[in-house]
Amino acid sequence: MHNPAIAHHIAQNTGPLLQMRDVRQSFPKPDGGELLVLDGVQLTVQEGEIIGLLGRSGSGKSTLLRLIAGLSMPTAGEITYLGTPVTGPAQGIAMVFQSFALFPWMTVIENVQIGLKALGLPEEEIRSRALGAIDMIGLDGFESAYPRELSGGMRQRVGFARALVVHPNILLMDEPFSALDVLTAETLRTDFIDLWSEGQMPIKAVILVTHNIEEAIFMCDRVLIFSSNPGRITSEIRIDMPHPRDRLDPVFAELVERTYVAMTVQAGRQRPTTGAGRSDHLPGAGIGIMLPQAEINDLAGLIEVLDSPLYDGRADLPILAHSLRMAVDDLFPLAETLQMLRLADIEGGDIQLTPAGREFAQAGVDDRKRIFHRHLLAYCPLAAHICRVLDQRSMHKAPITRFLNELEDHMSPEAARQTLHVVIGWGRYAEAFAYNGHDQYLSLENPS
Ligand code: ADP
Ligand code: MG
Repeated sequence: MHNPAIAHHIAQNTGPLLQMRDVRQSFPKPDGGELLVLDGVQLTVQEGEIIGLLGRSGSGKSTLLRLIAGLSMPTAGEITYLGTPVTGPAQGIAMVFQSFALFPWMTVIENVQIGLKALGLPEEEIRSRALGAIDMIGLDGFESAYPRELSGGMRQRVGFARALVVHPNILLMDEPFSALDVLTAETLRTDFIDLWSEGQMPIKAVILVTHNIEEAIFMCDRVLIFSSNPGRITSEIRIDMPHPRDRLDPVFAELVERTYVAMTVQAGRQRPTTGAGRSDHLPGAGIGIMLPQAEINDLAGLIEVLDSPLYDGRADLPILAHSLRMAVDDLFPLAETLQMLRLADIEGGDIQLTPAGREFAQAGVDDRKRIFHRHLLAYCPLAAHICRVLDQRSMHKAPITRFLNELEDHMSPEAARQTLHVVIGWGRYAEAFAYNGHDQYLSLENPS
């Protein structure tokens, strides 16, 4: 324990490590309105637990971690760390990011030592601690390598070492495995859990943000499910399986299924109950929602499978994923998209085609496009918005930067680009609008 004040606190402290009460976070929008990102968040972190935060992109998970780390202050509510209100960066809390965030001009050991410089420790201790962290996380022998010489998995190990070297009480991890390839990610998860179970890591609790259900069940003691717009914690799944966990264990599969159900019940509740698509008559309303990565071919394929005699329009999502040999985490964005477009309903872990979805399944190419066009403009506010803007322009054309800038008021530049990519794919299929990759202009397909 490097910090005597905190050491003293821990010794005295019998309560939770961290507590959040009624936390709310909103951001001012450029147009003067408020973007409500988190609302009514309650969270208690006890010593010894790994907590998972599971939710869609844009649901406020990173925002929540920043609040916990003391990097920003909530709009309302209270956050206490070891019983004391968080008013700035807390010393016993460290973070691992998705992007490795290493300094390219520094060696591995220099990158790891950065975490310690601020603590004002003697040079010798800085070095021995850094070597210890490097050793523990499996980077032995790479101390003097530069980041560019390392694979993605090794770079992320440096990210872990840099966070662990300060011996934080709470380790925050923001989708730390999602930029890695499948096998590297699995190795790193397994190594992390081994070190944790053996009590080798100098940390007391972990908060892991992820949008991968299986990862959450593999690693966490409990998983909190986040809704979007605004982000709230809507349910909690406890995982009592001992480590190491076996993904093929029926108990594991059952937990994945339960988590699915919890997420899909939530998705059902989030549906607007008023007249479908009303909001898209208000310019700009509802356009700032991140769209799931769902290609039209996959959407059509899913509709066909659901319509087949085997399912007759209705299927249990995890069973369907299993029979399609898809990870449930890959099927989910497709299911959500069909729900958004009212081509299917999701309820309690089941997906069911709507009458329009069944009509689509049985239609020929042109009728499919017509049905998709109708639903796209009625239920995807962004697509309707793009058509409206193009329609109002003299040449019925606009550069995509016009829409990218607008989306960036609601989401990160990367999310904006992805969302626009998705909606362009749908719009092209529906023959609603066309996109020219050369001049990067969108144009209306059939100007009225
Ligand atoms: P997640 O990590 O769940 O993907 P984030 O916490 O990154 O979500 O973002 C949630 C929402 O808050 C997004 O719509 C994002 O654009 C917005 N947001 C995050 N930080 C800021 C900020 N500093 N100013 C304005 N909007 C922000
Ligand atoms: Mg995030």
